[in-house]
Amino acid sequence: MNSVPFLNLRVPYLELKNEIDAAVARVLDSGWYILGSEVEAFEAEYAAYCETDHAIGVANGLDALHLALLAMDVGAGDEVIVPSNTYIATWLAVSHCGATPVPVEPDETTYNIDPARIEAAITDRTKVILPVHLYGQPADLTPILEIARRHGLKVLEDAAQAHGARYKGKRIGGHGDAVAWSFYPGKNLGAMGDGGAVTTNDPEIADRIRVLRNYGSRVKYVNEVIGYNSRLDPIQAAVLRIKLKYLDSWNLRRKTIADHYLEELGKLRCTLPSAPNRIKPVWHLFVIRHANRDKLQKKLTELGINTLIHYPIPPHKQAAYSAMKFRQTDFPVASRLANELLSLPIGPHLSLSELEKTTQCVKLALEAR
Ligand SMILES: *Cc1c(COP(=O)(O)O)cnc(C)c1O
Repeated sequence: MNSVPFLNLRVPYLELKNEIDAAVARVLDSGWYILGSEVEAFEAEYAAYCETDHAIGVANGLDALHLALLAMDVGAGDEVIVPSNTYIATWLAVSHCGATPVPVEPDETTYNIDPARIEAAITDRTKVILPVHLYGQPADLTPILEIARRHGLKVLEDAAQAHGARYKGKRIGGHGDAVAWSFYPGKNLGAMGDGGAVTTNDPEIADRIRVLRNYGSRVKYVNEVIGYNSRLDPIQAAVLRIKLKYLDSWNLRRKTIADHYLEELGKLRCTLPSAPNRIKPVWHLFVIRHANRDKLQKKLTELGINTLIHYPIPPHKQAAYSAMKFRQTDFPVASRLANELLSLPIGPHLSLSELEKTTQCVKLALEAR
């Protein structure tokens, strides 16, 4: 058998090829290539899916975060609480506003921001708490929203990895003041290129983002603020409308794979992801933890199993943030996770034989140690 790829984006395209090709052709044939009815239709359908009043399509997930922070009046001198364990985009969005990301360590069982550590990081300058629903597992929102309310802060959620996930029964999308989404091709809801959105129940935030994404303009050639060009492409919107119809069933396939891993790998000497009862995760990634991660990854590669590391260098150790002068010993939990986490292949298009092979090879690699 050939090696197991971490993710093959051609397979989901082939499954929906007829529908996607027709949708793309429809946009090409329409003669309308910026915003317009296709983007509006996707926004309405995605807002309904997320159980929120508004969805605003933007160019990518980083812009979704950036424009949402701007809509919350975040600017120079402000601070935003971010997880120390996240993809760097979460931090970059804060920096692009001229504000400072203030990292808070994760909970060691969920890998998401630890609500118990947030209050100690709040200062007079804090404006927003920015939790991330990492790996498809919602962060613990109730205490985060409670802390925000008590300190008069806004909550922006980074849901780039959590399309369709639920927290206490309710779909991610409308718990905080705004929620940022990415439709990067490898996400649970992925376009055939870049894409992003913000969902919110706050009409003022929605209105501000609509203006910011389109040159600060509501009426053509009338510019209210110094805006951006960050619009969701109608071709991508047309693709996303097709893929949205399949999101729940594709998330269910991910769950079946995750359940198989949890069942089969439970007795081995590695730590499996845990999903507390309050959440319904969507298994964007299946992340195991092992003290000898690098050796384990090498062994799996030799056996033909392609794994990835999310993420090998935490943001505070990136050259991009050298000006913040973090010490090597800062954020030890995030640093430890960066050394010990390993993502196994998962996705709606991992075949049964690929799943079986991966499971057997992980067992072999762990038992051989
Ligand atoms: C993918 C991702 C982003 C950025 O999305 P892009 O569309 O690539 O800009 C932001 N945050 C997290 C947690 C992500 O996984």
